[in-house]
Formats: sequence, structure tokens, C-alpha cells
Amino acid sequence: MERPGKKTAARIHQEITRQVNQLLSRIFAERGNHGLTDLEAVENALRVVLHQAGAAALSELLQFDVPAPDQRQLPCPCGHHAQYRELRSKLVLTVVGQAQVSRPYYLCPHCHQGQFPADVELDIKDTEFSPGVRRMHALVGQDAPFDHGREQMKVLAGLEVTAKSVERIAEAIGEDIAQREREEMQKAIQLDLPVVGGPSIPVLYVEMDGTGVPVVKKETVGRQAKTDGQPAHTREVKLGCVFTQTKCDKEGFPIRDPDSTTYTGAIETAEEFGKRIYLEACQRGSSRAVKKVVIGDGAEWIRNLADLHRSLSRPPTPVGVGAQVAPQRRREAESLDEETSAVAGQGKNRNTGPHAARHRCNQSRGNREDSHRGRLL
Ligand SMILES: [Zn+2]
Repeated sequence: MERPGKKTAARIHQEITRQVNQLLSRIFAERGNHGLTDLEAVENALRVVLHQAGAAALSELLQFDVPAPDQRQLPCPCGHHAQYRELRSKLVLTVVGQAQVSRPYYLCPHCHQGQFPADVELDIKDTEFSPGVRRMHALVGQDAPFDHGREQMKVLAGLEVTAKSVERIAEAIGEDIAQREREEMQKAIQLDLPVVGGPSIPVLYVEMDGTGVPVVKKETVGRQAKTDGQPAHTREVKLGCVFTQTKCDKEGFPIRDPDSTTYTGAIETAEEFGKRIYLEACQRGSSRAVKKVVIGDGAEWIRNLADLHRSLSRPPTPVGVGAQVAPQRRREAESLDEETSAVAGQGKNRNTGPHAARHRCNQSRGNREDSHRGRLL
């Protein structure tokens, strides 16, 4: 984008001044008539005006020039060249309201694919929402029904959007995040992650569980409910967390390190979730853990994952996804003297290994298991 010239800057200042002056004279007139100031009305009116001024300023800044004669063609992915055709406009919703962008359009005469290089530069390719507004959408769309998100955008940002756009953008950003996570998981499985440096961790806990979450109909198409013949109304989300423990209390109960818990989860198969939770543990420095503990309820998939990942970090015979253990990783793995699976709760098949017994010492104290869990979690 060209730097705005003096003329453009002057026009923007003029527009902002005009709008603010107009509002101020209205506010002063109101106060003269009634002797009162309705703060909420004034603050909201000011925001509207400042937004309008901001949108006008942005629209000025987003007017691209016709490209110079020597810049009127671009490489096209097809191998030919796209030619400059004209300036084209579109409306973009920004954090200060709707702004108009006008930018060069290039068309490839060979494959007929069009290009807006400015859209790539501005990060508004194939969308009518600015990056700032997309970030807001993602924030309000992540933890409440999308219509709440629409309301929040109105109250908090003074922006009119639809529930559908909150949904669309939240899902697009979610997919983007998921894609990046898949890439990271792939790297973790190929033992290609950068080693996270830092002090050793006495005990690193990995806990996981699954639970049914209600979903819309299209999510359960072709899926059987647990009760035969019934359509499914829920899908299982697998959740995991990783936390560390450095100390025990006076009675010898382990204490979770404050603020040490990170979470991950998804609706996916056990195999996929295994990579996800493994990545989480890697990023939390599992290679520096003196002892690793897996806590689960005894479900078979959790047991299998614990076994799989134990084999992954244990030399010398990695199996399955661990078949590509790099020599450097192997040395690190050798320093892990112990890895533990603890099975807490009421699972049918409790782990009866010696390490598990140690972590279930609370069971010999009768019903104090809950207090153990309570302190750790
Ligand atoms: Zn082409």
C-alpha cells in the first residue's frame, strides 16, 4: 500500500473533525435544554461517530493506485501470467465499521483465474471481514451459542454481524487451528519437535477421559447410540490435561504445581487423540520428566494409549508409531527411569502393576481416594 499523501491525511482529519464537531454540538445543545448528561447515550454516540470517522479514514487508506506500467502482470499458478484489468472495490467490515477497499484486479487469459494481490497483503482474501473483526468473531464464537456472539459484537464492539457469520468465522479459525495442530502432531510422532529446554520435572501427569456431548443431528448421521436401535444424540469428546508435581504435603499426598495444568481435547478417534495428548506432553517437557504418570478410568483406549506411548519413550525396541526414534531422542528416553500408569476411579480393569500400586497408595486408606484426586486435580 502507498503511504498516504498529505492530501489524503488532510481529508481524513477534515472528515473526523466534521463528524466529532457535529456530535459535540448536539451533546451541548441537549445539555443546554435539559441540564443533564446521559452518559451512556453520549459514550455510545461518540463511539458511533468515532467509528464512522475511523471507517472513513480506513477507506481512504485502502484505495490502491493503478499499478505502474511495468507492474501490470503477475505470475499465475498455472504457469502463465495474469494481466492487470482494473481497480475493483469491495466492502470489508473492520473493527471501526464498514470500509471500502479498492484494489487492482489481475486476470489470467490462459486459465481465467483472477487475483487480488492486495487482498493477500491485507489478509482479506475471500472474506468480507478484516483480520481484527475475525479475531473478535473467534473470541465470541468459542464458548457460547453463536447468537450470543452476535449480541456481544453489538454491545462490546458496536458492530452489526449475523449469528451465521460468527459461526462461519469461528469454524474457519477452528479449522485453521486444527490444521496447524495436525502438522505439529505429525512432527511429534516423527520425533521432529524442537526439544523444549529447562529444568527436569520430578513428576509429569497426563490425564485423559472421554465424555458424551450433545450435538446437532448432522454430526451423528450413521452413528449408533449405545442403546441398540436408537439414534445417537451425543458424540464422545476426548479430553486430556497435563500437569506437574514437585512436592508432597505433610501427609505425603502429592500436590499439583499451581497453574501447571494445560488442556487439550477433540472429537476424534483414540488413535488421533493419542497423538494430540502426546504432543501436549512433549510441549510440556515430557522429555525432561523424571517420572511420567498416566491417569485414566480404566477404559481400554486409555490403557492402550498409555501402553503405546510408554513403548514410544522406552528404548530399545520402539513399536508402532515410535518406529522412527532418533538416536538423540533415544538417549533422552534412556534417562527416564520410570514411567507409570495409574488407574484411578471405578474402571473395570484396574492396572495392577507395581507402579500403579504406588500411585494408588491412597486406596489402602479406605475412602480417601477422592481427597487424593481432589488435591491433585
Ligand atoms: Zn493462469
